[in-house]
Amino acid sequence: MGSTLFHGGTILTVDAENRAFEDGWITVREGRISGVGPKATTPDPSGYDEVFDLTGHLVIPGLVNAHTHSAMVLFRGRSEGQSLLTMEGWYNSIREPELSLISSDIGPAVALSAAEMLLSGTTTFCDQYFFAEEIAAAVKAAGIRAVIAYGIVQLGDAERGVEELAKATAFLEQQRSADGRVIPWFGPHAPYVDNTEDLLKAEVEVANTFGVGLHLHMACGPEDNEETLGRYGTTASVALEKIGFFNGRIHAAHCIDLSAEDIAVFARAPHASVSYNATAGLRSGRKGICPAVDLRAAGVTVALGTDNVAANNSYDMIAEMRVAGLVASHREGRAQPLSSQDLLRMATIEGAKALGLDGEIGSLEVGKAADITTIDLSGPGYSETPDPETLLIYSGSGRDVRHVWVAGEQLVRNRTLVRRDYASIRSDYAKTYESFWRRVAEAKANREVA
Ligand SMILES: [Zn+2]
Repeated sequence: MGSTLFHGGTILTVDAENRAFEDGWITVREGRISGVGPKATTPDPSGYDEVFDLTGHLVIPGLVNAHTHSAMVLFRGRSEGQSLLTMEGWYNSIREPELSLISSDIGPAVALSAAEMLLSGTTTFCDQYFFAEEIAAAVKAAGIRAVIAYGIVQLGDAERGVEELAKATAFLEQQRSADGRVIPWFGPHAPYVDNTEDLLKAEVEVANTFGVGLHLHMACGPEDNEETLGRYGTTASVALEKIGFFNGRIHAAHCIDLSAEDIAVFARAPHASVSYNATAGLRSGRKGICPAVDLRAAGVTVALGTDNVAANNSYDMIAEMRVAGLVASHREGRAQPLSSQDLLRMATIEGAKALGLDGEIGSLEVGKAADITTIDLSGPGYSETPDPETLLIYSGSGRDVRHVWVAGEQLVRNRTLVRRDYASIRSDYAKTYESFWRRVAEAKANREVA
């Protein structure tokens, strides 16, 4: 892979001090960052195999999308008027068509999602779905990094729970890919709603044995707490803490309905984090908003996620930072309780920390994998400012991302995918989309006849 010198851009390291270098430089050797610094210390270019002039660019760590379901791009625009954060909305728009999914649908769908993510600056995402093997294969082909949580939905069928656990365990064993870009996890869909207490306990045990995390939806719809309040008289977080669930690495999506007691559960846990999915939350029509400011004040890691694009419609993490900031201001009733620097940290290093990857990615620091995103600042909206983070978040767009590297490998060059032509990804996807929705229509017609 050799060595590369990047120079000339405004570098936001997102290190512990949020150091920024105007006209700075980064060096990369064998896929890892070997140096970063200000203009005055720029190394001699002759010592590098490749030299990249990033003048006029903002250079940031690759963005981390901490919660999505990448295969669900097939449902884009198919849940209008439904809240995907309630069981009812999910039943109405997703559940029935989902039964017509077949394994060969997954690759083309995930390939399109990975392409959209890379082209808008995301280098790592956290996915939770069925067909984990097919997702992993598509992730490897795309070159993006992903935590893939094997989706477990029990839905009142104990035997199915046991089978799913065995399959998820086999997935963990198999998916320890040599280049480390696929990180297998467990993904119980939602506690108590469709995973029983015994199954949840067994999942934590296996996850701890393998040293992996569990990614799940929590406190996102009224059902989550209703179920446990009826059964145990406590919220789901408190009930889960009692059965030892929070001893593992827990990454919880949405967390809209958290009480002060629930926040304390997250704060006490050794490795509990939240994915705040502001756009998906707003579009769902839930009145509550994830208490991201309170969670952070309590010391909980809060990452940002788009959720599936049936809910969000976009994988643009720059837009997601903007919405997360706007919604937090509205919720707290004051100007920017989450600063632009906070938001960029949440979309990079805190996302990495939530996924247990902060030693490897999330900031531009010596020794970390070279996951780098650059934004071209020559277009409209990016005029002179002393505050590059605010410029990026409130004036910027994922469509202005120009180059992206993962582990030092350039995957986007001049807004174009390097490994595979976007047009071929789109045309494969279009065929899959057409055949999937034809199957859905046929299944529906058959049910009506029967
Ligand atoms: Zn979700």
